[in-house]
Amino acid sequence: MKITQLSTYGYQLTRLGLVNCYFVRESDGFTLIDTGLPGSADAILDAARHCGSQQNGYQLCRILLTHAHGDHIGSFDKLSRLLGNALSAISHRDGRLLPKPPAQDRSLDANEPQCKIKGSLPGAVTKPTHFVTDGELYGSLRCFATPGHTPGHFSFLDERDGTLYVGDALTTVGGKPHIAGWAPWFFPLPNFGTWHRPTPRASIQRLWDTIPAETPIRRIAAGHGRVIEGGRELLEAALTEAR
Ligand SMILES: [Zn+2]
Repeated sequence: MKITQLSTYGYQLTRLGLVNCYFVRESDGFTLIDTGLPGSADAILDAARHCGSQQNGYQLCRILLTHAHGDHIGSFDKLSRLLGNALSAISHRDGRLLPKPPAQDRSLDANEPQCKIKGSLPGAVTKPTHFVTDGELYGSLRCFATPGHTPGHFSFLDERDGTLYVGDALTTVGGKPHIAGWAPWFFPLPNFGTWHRPTPRASIQRLWDTIPAETPIRRIAAGHGRVIEGGRELLEAALTEAR
């Protein structure tokens, strides 16, 4: 697993050159954003020890899931088992997709676009301990509902350093952010897995409209692709592309 420090607080963990999850350092340990593919748990814990040795303490104390796709929840069960009492959270909406079938609920609410929910949804045995809601804080991470790739997709902004962890709401493969549904031809995976194409665009527009000037975006950290330095202008370019 490749480890790249992206700021004072953030580390990107990359498997197979394409699938990212992230550590965010807090005073009580690391928050892990997404858990990668199945089989990543041991490498994630090794990475926590490696990063933690520079910071006194390597414990993972929280797991936040951006959404329920298999390349983001793949090692959730094993990590939860190994970590014992770690807090874990996903949105209430994607929490319906998190159990394994037959408990998994792929139904749509009456007020949602009536499109089939797409992508790999292998489910997990572990029940999250919390459900993230729009606007709340987990450690230093402000939670933003960014539906569209999945109905309950969330993004997280570290208000200390401006890193915006976007899961698959944006992909940065190719060196710039593309909104889910508008990923480039050479990496169409986020497009195939996107539930309703206009909705992620509206979510990115809402981020552009609502993230306040006091806590600006300084870089974008996506589920697929390298971390891109920059702020609102990156969202603007992605919005312009997705017309
Ligand atoms: Zn996805």
